[in-house]
Amino acid sequence: MDDLKFGTRNKRGDWSPDEPIKPAPLLDAPSIARILKWLPSYFFPYNVLWLFSAWVFLTYLTPSRETLQTLDWQWPLYLLVRNSAAVFLFYGVYELRLYVQRKQGNRFKFNARFPSDSKNAAFMFGSQNIDSMIRGFGTGVPIWTAFEVLVLWSSANGYGFWLTFAEHPIYLIALFVLSPVIHEIHFFAIHRLIHTPVLYKWIHSVHHNSVNPSPFSSLSMHPVEHLLYFGTVVYHIVLPSNPLLAIYQLHMAGFGAVIGHVGFDKIEVGDEKAIDTHAYAHYLHHKYFEVNYADGLIPLDKWFGTWHDGTKEGDAQMQARYEKRKAKANAQPAE
Ligand SMILES: [Zn+2]
Ligand SMILES: [Zn+2]
Repeated sequence: MDDLKFGTRNKRGDWSPDEPIKPAPLLDAPSIARILKWLPSYFFPYNVLWLFSAWVFLTYLTPSRETLQTLDWQWPLYLLVRNSAAVFLFYGVYELRLYVQRKQGNRFKFNARFPSDSKNAAFMFGSQNIDSMIRGFGTGVPIWTAFEVLVLWSSANGYGFWLTFAEHPIYLIALFVLSPVIHEIHFFAIHRLIHTPVLYKWIHSVHHNSVNPSPFSSLSMHPVEHLLYFGTVVYHIVLPSNPLLAIYQLHMAGFGAVIGHVGFDKIEVGDEKAIDTHAYAHYLHHKYFEVNYADGLIPLDKWFGTWHDGTKEGDAQMQARYEKRKAKANAQPAE
């Protein structure tokens, strides 16, 4: 496919889309027509996919209620192996096609370079992929699994406020619809928090080592960030919920993380078709650090003045913000 019909390539070979990134119309100039047009994309394909994967995991790949009632090491270990294998396969599909086989070269690729082409001392063993996998599988998936163990063990024993769909269908369906909003607000809040100077240096700089992110960068985080990131499931533990929705929220965080780190704007399917990845907003966060803390489902970045829509105007706004901050810092009396 000719990616220059959809975007521009600069001298370095980096490709960027011509169309600005549009935040969802939920609160950003909403109109019935805009919302109706956008609504299917709220559910399809990703959120329906995470709900389906949560249902398959819970129904077919989780031990019986009797087993879950007793906390031992066997079934949590099984869940850990199961989740690790699922992440390896799911992220691996993107990695294999786009970064190993390089099926579409660097068509639609934001950064012309492939991370594996050069060694980088910022990473363990000089490799973004090895570093990311050690972090993702070493602490990311274990922390995700630990939250899942808590959900399954407490619901199997009836500890907490677990509801059934048969008795509370409207409330639980509303919670299902709201879960991506919970994810967005939670992620924005913890993300702003770990961008404060001390926490950035200690925790979040690990994730930002991937300036040119690839699929396995998704869970390349400090363990404290893993804890905060997967902590999005806590709302389902402290509020009335259902285990399916708790696992759904975890899958949205765990599997969903790959969406922002694919590194390509579109994935080609055949000669004339391509699927939008929606990766550009988060790519710009990895590139510029202080824009797009969330993904635009709720216009939080717009309200806080950190939205970058990928255009020259977005660049100018970002630069103006930096200048303003620099001027403010310089105006402080010297100590
Ligand atoms: Zn990221
Ligand atoms: Zn960040």
